[in-house]
Amino acid sequence: MDEKFDAIVVGAGPSGNSAAYLLAKAGLKVLQIERGEYPGSKNVQGAILYSDALERVIPDFREDAPLERHIVEQQMWVLDDESYVGNTYRSAEFNKEPYNRYTIIRAQFDKWFSKKVQDAGALLICETTVSDLLMDGNRVIGIQVDREGGAVYADIVILADGVNSLLAKKAGFHPELDPKDVALAVKEIHFLPQETVQERFNIGEDEGVVIEMVGKITQGMMGTGFLYTNKESITIGVGCMLSDFKKQKTTPYALLEQMKTHPAIKPIIAGGEMKEYTAHLIPEGGYKAIPKICGDGWLMVGDAAMFVNAVHREGSNLAMTSGRLAAETVIALKEAGKEMTAANLALYREKLDDSFLMKDLKKYKNMPEILHSNPQFFTTYPELVNRAAHSMLTVDGVDKKSKEREIRGNFVGKRSLFGLMGDAFKLWRAFE
Ligand SMILES: Cc1cc2nc3c(=O)[nH]c(=O)nc-3n(C[C@H](O)[C@H](O)[C@H](O)COP(=O)(O)OP(=O)(O)OC[C@H]3O[C@@H](n4cnc5c(N)ncnc54)[C@H](O)[C@@H]3O)c2cc1C
Repeated sequence: MDEKFDAIVVGAGPSGNSAAYLLAKAGLKVLQIERGEYPGSKNVQGAILYSDALERVIPDFREDAPLERHIVEQQMWVLDDESYVGNTYRSAEFNKEPYNRYTIIRAQFDKWFSKKVQDAGALLICETTVSDLLMDGNRVIGIQVDREGGAVYADIVILADGVNSLLAKKAGFHPELDPKDVALAVKEIHFLPQETVQERFNIGEDEGVVIEMVGKITQGMMGTGFLYTNKESITIGVGCMLSDFKKQKTTPYALLEQMKTHPAIKPIIAGGEMKEYTAHLIPEGGYKAIPKICGDGWLMVGDAAMFVNAVHREGSNLAMTSGRLAAETVIALKEAGKEMTAANLALYREKLDDSFLMKDLKKYKNMPEILHSNPQFFTTYPELVNRAAHSMLTVDGVDKKSKEREIRGNFVGKRSLFGLMGDAFKLWRAFE
């Protein structure tokens, strides 16, 4: 296949599909390579789809995209072993079209997206792995695939190959992933009748609920749990930093099994038939861990570039946004008759810096190291908050002032006054 394309996109996840779709739609000759049997066969997500990012690529996506439920309610639970303290936001505004967030099943969604890419004119080849980047000095000039005679050339290669990005590592664009910069997440899908899902969450036919969880379910490791409603199923999962799993010598599977026995979670999934179990890495190193994202003849998008906002559990929208901005950069350079040099492609970084994507990642730049070095946020505080709620809500003849004194004593006893002040400062720095 000694052919030349305007652009080659490696990977058919949301970042690669966004880039390939817009490039093909602009009339460029695009080749997209996906190692999976079909787009979505290798991909894992919770999965919440954020409409805004997709709308900017395919404005009328709601007409035929496979969407499960639009989200009308978000809950946040802080758990100890027996209970949780939670807050809920439910809004009639979220029940008005156009809906802002949906649950999706990635295997179906990626297939749908890929069909749009192919309809726009891109050539997709599946079950094919890009094994190397072809270089002319420092410049990427094409790819090598794991098929006979598999050299293909292009003006630009877009690396949309996900969190591992072996290609970028191989080409020396960034070092081996640091275990403290990636989370390992597992999730299961439990199938239940549609009416049961709706009854358990007090929702209507297309309405959905999201529950995010933090606390003792991660056994002191830095991580979170989640539970989402699909049409006829519930997705449940948990993820923690890879470095913590290594230290703690436990497995994600053991964590999820334990989480499912929690008294607040068990009844929600009771009677469900578990049909899907998947595990995947999530790049959660944040702003400070972003590698070099462009060079002569290449651009990097999505998970490959560490574009995940772990605080707000946003990844696919950053993937689609970076894919879109990469495509817009390439189209602008083509239209101006400019070469795909590192200097010209710096426009991509400018576009990213100007978008919510970099602004949000920058905002939380201190978060990963602060949370990582302060496990009390995942153990001691959830326990104290739950104990305080239990005490205040138990009517037992003890006056409320005494209860407040006891709660204050518990907090100071566990963290000391100085420690409490220090933790408040750390949290402020993490969210500043
Ligand atoms: C458990 C879990 C829950 C999540 N929940 C959410 C959520 O609710 N909302 C959200 O927005 N995000 C969520 N995310 C994050 C989200 O899934 C990712 O940010 C998003 O999928 C990144 O898209 P991408 O296109 O960059 O990479 P991917 O979706 O990983 O796609 C990369 C593609 O490249 C292909 N590929 C890799 N190497 C090669 C190669 N050498 N040759 C050819 N093809 C190759 C892969 O097969 C794959 O299809 C979650 C992630 C996990 C793991």
